Amino acid sequence: MRLLRRLRSTSLLTRFATLSLLLTVAVGVVLSSVLTTVIEDRARQQAEDAALMAVRLGLQPQFTRTDLTRGFDVERLAGVEKAVDDASDQFGTEGTPLAAFDPIELKVFGADRTILYHSEHPELVGETSQSGELGAALDGYVVSGFAHSADDGAGSEDGAHQLLEVYVPLQFDGAARPGGAIELYLPYAPVAAAVRDDVRTMTVALGISLAVFCLVVLRVIASASRRMRRQSEALQASADRDRHQSTHDALTGLPNWVLVRDRLDQGLAAAGRSDAEVALLLIDLDRFKEINDSLGHSYGDKLLCQVGPRLRSALRDADTVGRLGGDEFAVLLPSVDGVGEAEAVAERLRQALHQPFDVDGVILDVEASIGIVLSPWHGTDSEELRRNADIAMYAAKELKGGAVVFQPEAHATTPVRLSVLGDLRRALDGADELFLNYQPKITLDGGRIEGLEALLRWQHPTQGLIPPGEFIPVAEGTGIILRLTERVLNLALAQQRCWLEAGLAVPVAVNLSTRCLLDADLPELVERLLTEHRVPAALLRLEVTESAVMGDAARCMDVLQRLRDLGVHLSIDDFGTGYSSMAYLRRLPVDELKIDRSFVLGMTTTAQDLVLVRTAIDLGHNLGLTVVAEGVELAEQVDALRELGCDIAQGYHYARPMAAESMTVLLARVGTMHDERLRAGS
Ligand code: C2E
Ligand code: MG
Ligand code: MG
Repeated sequence: MRLLRRLRSTSLLTRFATLSLLLTVAVGVVLSSVLTTVIEDRARQQAEDAALMAVRLGLQPQFTRTDLTRGFDVERLAGVEKAVDDASDQFGTEGTPLAAFDPIELKVFGADRTILYHSEHPELVGETSQSGELGAALDGYVVSGFAHSADDGAGSEDGAHQLLEVYVPLQFDGAARPGGAIELYLPYAPVAAAVRDDVRTMTVALGISLAVFCLVVLRVIASASRRMRRQSEALQASADRDRHQSTHDALTGLPNWVLVRDRLDQGLAAAGRSDAEVALLLIDLDRFKEINDSLGHSYGDKLLCQVGPRLRSALRDADTVGRLGGDEFAVLLPSVDGVGEAEAVAERLRQALHQPFDVDGVILDVEASIGIVLSPWHGTDSEELRRNADIAMYAAKELKGGAVVFQPEAHATTPVRLSVLGDLRRALDGADELFLNYQPKITLDGGRIEGLEALLRWQHPTQGLIPPGEFIPVAEGTGIILRLTERVLNLALAQQRCWLEAGLAVPVAVNLSTRCLLDADLPELVERLLTEHRVPAALLRLEVTESAVMGDAARCMDVLQRLRDLGVHLSIDDFGTGYSSMAYLRRLPVDELKIDRSFVLGMTTTAQDLVLVRTAIDLGHNLGLTVVAEGVELAEQVDALRELGCDIAQGYHYARPMAAESMTVLLARVGTMHDERLRAGS
């Protein structure tokens, strides 16, 4: 039992080796005992056969039936003795199958069991024997068995003194039963020696074969087990790697949202048991995009890698720092003592980030906006906390840096605006909630469709249709606006491809926000999407607001110029609401100017608005731009605009923004002025 227990605690390979060794030994023992019996039986059978043949061929011809009924006279006896000797000489020769035939004692019995001849004790002739074996021999069977010679010491095991006693019937031709029988005592020693030799040879051969078998099996198993161990180690390593990749950010190696959420859930469960508070802080670096754009992505990446350790240095061991993507980081405080402590930690984090960063010799100053939420006050599950932390972080961004604790009351006053971020991310991950409406721009001289404006719509699953004015400004505060713009461009160009295939060539305008204009990668994105959707650049227009361009005209200029170089047309949107300088306007590579609808609305009632509209039209024309009036709702506005020489009008007076299918019908009915232009190759 102890051995078994010890065996159980060893390695699988040792256990297998021991078991197979034991099994092989057991098989060896069984095999050798079976084979030994077979060898012994075969040897005895051979001796029996030898005796039988000796009797049949050598002795029986010496006897007549009369000898067996009446006994031998002296003369015949001498003949019998000679025959016995001859038979022993003839068959007892070493090397023949009958080598064992060298009878020690020989008796001849008559059919009535009388001893007719006894080679060793002639005085017993005439006695009868009651032996059962003799009876069987007189019934015609050859019977054999072991006997011991008179000088055999007790318990001789080696067979040296063992005798093989064989009864052979003497069967004469034509007789129904044997006429007598011969009992022979043959020495068993030669047979036993042959058996021993055979058994030894067999045992050695068996032992060697089983040992070789055992070794081969063990080798195969050892190498298979090594291979399996290596494979399982590799699998384990790859599973660990996968697990790490799915829970960590590839760039910084920090936990990603999956892991932060997991720890947040654990923290919430633990806090629920102990009434403790859990805090989640969302940190967004301010103006990171500018660093990325001005110094290049590799600097941006290196800076992001330095942010994690910096944040870590201001925290306790139990706290978690994660990166959620872009320039957004999260800090999880699994146990805080109220809002005050969370704010103190946020301040420490901001201070830590305020220390200048050295990125390959370039000293960078980083500021961050932090949104703070505490469970259970601002949410009890991880998604709700993240969404509210997003809202608080956005509020912090609006305050231009600093840390803001989520305020449910502030949330309640502007519900859609502040809660959209999380939902917008989800909408962008899906395919159904965001879609475009199209509004036509009509030529004032001929009433033809000059182009369309694509306007984004968001069908929120619970809040219904949300107008762009409520979510685009929120998205503009974060990197989401870039994803949103890419989605809009994709939708607009895919739709344009459909129209082109239906034979409708119409320019479509897409609105760009300020943040997009600061993105140095935008021209490449536009170029790639135009190629992907196989839409000519001349059929795409990009609208940028006047204020966006004026905010950072120098930086926008480069992006605008590269877009213009692609062949894309550019428009200044909401003209009149910003304070554009004539000098900049002149240098901007734009084609079109869209007068803001607030002026168009008042132009027939307010003299000031009329002056502004007129000035805008003149200015546009002087700069060689097409002038569009937005928000045209009334026929008198159309007349006034026409009189002022405005080129194009857009507004409810002509058509409200509509779904693509309705626009297809309208386009087919009214036709576009670009059909002809495009056909003419202009
Ligand atoms: P916008 O580019 O000036 O677009 C024109 C807006 O005026 C649209 O509002 C349109 O529905 C509305 N409009 C058109 N005709 C009339 C009219 O006769 N009367 C009145 N009262 N309004 C009229 P919408 O669709 O609500 O869009 C609002 C703003 O949201 C847009 O102003 C644009 O700045 C922004 N926006 C829309 N889609 C996108 C987008 O895909 N990307 C970005 N960045 N901004 C977008
Ligand atoms: Mg627009
Ligand atoms: Mg506008």
